[in-house]
Amino acid sequence: MSNQPFQVYLRIKPLLESSTETLIEDLNDNRIVIRKDGKNSKSFVFDKIFSGVQNNEDIFDQSLRHNLDHFIEGYNTTILAYGITGSGKTHTIFGNEKDEGLSFKCINYIVNRMKYMSSEANVQMEMSFIEVYNETIRDLMSEQPKPLMIMQDNQKGSYIQGLQAIKINSINDVKEGINIANQNRSLAQTIYNVYSSRSHALIQFNLSYSFEGQTITPKLFIVDLAGSERVYQDQKSKNQQEGSNINRSLLALSNCLTILSDKSKKNQHIPYRNSKLTRLLQDSLGGNTRTIMISCIQQNKCQYDEILNTLQYSSRAT
Ligand code: ADP
Ligand code: MG
Repeated sequence: MSNQPFQVYLRIKPLLESSTETLIEDLNDNRIVIRKDGKNSKSFVFDKIFSGVQNNEDIFDQSLRHNLDHFIEGYNTTILAYGITGSGKTHTIFGNEKDEGLSFKCINYIVNRMKYMSSEANVQMEMSFIEVYNETIRDLMSEQPKPLMIMQDNQKGSYIQGLQAIKINSINDVKEGINIANQNRSLAQTIYNVYSSRSHALIQFNLSYSFEGQTITPKLFIVDLAGSERVYQDQKSKNQQEGSNINRSLLALSNCLTILSDKSKKNQHIPYRNSKLTRLLQDSLGGNTRTIMISCIQQNKCQYDEILNTLQYSSRAT
């Protein structure tokens, strides 16, 4: 299992129609080879690859559990679902009745582990739900959402002023919170139709407890990112027209992750301040923190170009 500060896992969505052809030529635990007719095969390496037969439970066991143990020790942690629209990001983070999502599994795991702490440890847990859409931050727990601002504090790091947080005492509190946030999110989806592919949904989970006279306060972000398809368009065309700014946050995150994942760029400045999303994640990316990216792809041959973009962007340099 990887204990690297930046880990990238690949999740391949199963072929849902048997008539479609797969672009996968070869696949094992770490390497995927893809091919399109008339082109050379291309090979990409990840910390681990999950094929279409593995479910959210398998992904949790093999990519997240050990990282959550590290989180509980006190390190900020970020889990990101990355990929184009339709690749399975929301399925991964929020799941469905048959396959509970990773957000729930993660928080469930932490809540269960903290049960064993003594009362002197004064364990406190709280959760917030945030959305970044078109560089505007919204509180998904609030019934009358107004745009919120990011502030900076020496103690707390970056935080959102006025953001509501619900106290977590049991798994039911977690379920309830996720449900309210999802309801508020789908309400907005019916108002703006491109919304879900262009908005980032973030769960922020704050843990606090005392240990040997110190207060340990790690932050966990679990993020269902906006569809990555626009980033490539914007990068290719360097389009300054209206609309090209829509995914400024995703582009900025991509730029930060590129620097963080490249050991040769260790001392390079990381441009956190270029977007709302990266400002928010600022103290949860790089340094002592861990970032776990779950890159999601489909496998249909007809989507070769977009899948290639995701693989090139997210795979390990070899
Ligand atoms: P995204 O959030 O990346 O746009 P979704 O998670 O909404 O994509 O997935 C698109 C569709 O594919 C949904 O209908 C979802 O239920 C289905 N899907 C995604 N991943 C899987 C999977 N691993 N197994 C079965 N169906 C999946
Ligand atoms: Mg989605």
